[in-house]
Amino acid sequence: MTAVTLKNVSKVFPGDTLAVDSLSMEVNHGEFLVLLGPSGCGKSTVLRMVAGLETPSDGEILLDGEYANDLPPRDRNAAMIFQTFALYPHMSVGDNIGFPLKLGKHNGAQSVPDAVGDMAGALGISDLIDRKPSQLSGGQQQRVAMGRALVRRPKLFLMDEPLSNLDVGLRAELRTEISSLVRRHDATTLYVTHDQTEALTMADRVAVMRKGVLQDVGTPDEVYERPATMYVAAFLGTPRMNLLEARVNVFLDRYVALDFGDQELRLPWHDLRGRAVARYHGENIVVGMRAEALAPVAEGHPGQSIQGRVRFYEHHGHETLVFLDIGATAVVPDGIGDKPDLARSGSKPRRRLGGLFSGFGQTPAERREADSGPIRKPADLVFRLPPHIPVSAGQPITVAVHMDALHYFDKYGKRIDV
Ligand code: ATP
Repeated sequence: MTAVTLKNVSKVFPGDTLAVDSLSMEVNHGEFLVLLGPSGCGKSTVLRMVAGLETPSDGEILLDGEYANDLPPRDRNAAMIFQTFALYPHMSVGDNIGFPLKLGKHNGAQSVPDAVGDMAGALGISDLIDRKPSQLSGGQQQRVAMGRALVRRPKLFLMDEPLSNLDVGLRAELRTEISSLVRRHDATTLYVTHDQTEALTMADRVAVMRKGVLQDVGTPDEVYERPATMYVAAFLGTPRMNLLEARVNVFLDRYVALDFGDQELRLPWHDLRGRAVARYHGENIVVGMRAEALAPVAEGHPGQSIQGRVRFYEHHGHETLVFLDIGATAVVPDGIGDKPDLARSGSKPRRRLGGLFSGFGQTPAERREADSGPIRKPADLVFRLPPHIPVSAGQPITVAVHMDALHYFDKYGKRIDV
């Protein structure tokens, strides 16, 4: 039995706005599952439906295997933590933390002061116990809010971007604390964020959403190493995965060429990867290469290296990112970086939605005029150099390609398994 089950859950808001589109997903007992996606993709709506603050328009929500669509929030034994920490301003830290226990929702055998003391200790705020919220920093306030949610030991934690109002250093610190605390309590957690670092570092499993649709779900390694769609590939990782359009040409019994225009990479014909890609002979596919799959070399092997000229570079202290003009075409999935995510709420035009993921955040009229797909543009192949290696604009560079580390996507943006 799973802690939370969503079966084909959809949510349509008034005005016919589709916020969640037939989402099916399970959260196992004791699991820390992170819902990851850009702003406006429907993550909070999923969380609010699990909390009972919104009712699904369609589909089923089960909690511990029981139908829960109509269950009032107070009967769900769930604690919700938001990005704004609504503490009681007139109460001390200790009273804030202990408040749920005084309301009679105490599950444990401990006395209230003991439970509050233990919780404050676990959160590193024991010395602040007599202060009022106004005398605390943002990070300290969020710890108190965490403590108040954790103290009554609910079975389910629902957290909506709890760290997004904190500065970078505090966020990193609290990331570790939150995940170790909820694991210690053996609670199930559904955690919403748009921050891939939070997702990859905290989660047992990550579910990536885009425009109301679940794109991929798996362990952090699985979604990073084997992204199910081109969108997930581009969303996870810094710098963003290089995604190049390539035509597949099969030279029977010799090799399978990935033709980028003037240059090609070759996969051996007598190998599973070559065979899998060969099915797309004569078609365009998208080849994904993370920066870590590329390394500059003095001389490249034919079919296993790419040449180009440095268009520009960025020094990042610990590394230099080099952007190489290679005369190929890059593909930017809809909703990623280079163009605005038009699913965002508000009155912006939403003309470019559509294709595989049409309908999200749109009225029927907008859906009809939708016309979308990924953007294509001249490729800048991005790779890393150690900071001390000099580089200059216009410089010719050859990079060796780690052929085992390539990703392939079909014209619908779906992963081609090799
Ligand atoms: P963020 O990270 O910015 O909070 P999100 O991924 O959590 O975004 P949601 O808040 O779930 O996204 O919103 C998904 C879509 O549903 C958006 O297009 C939003 O405008 C719309 N939406 C959310 N709540 C309502 C509502 N009460 N009425 C109408 N539309 C809504």
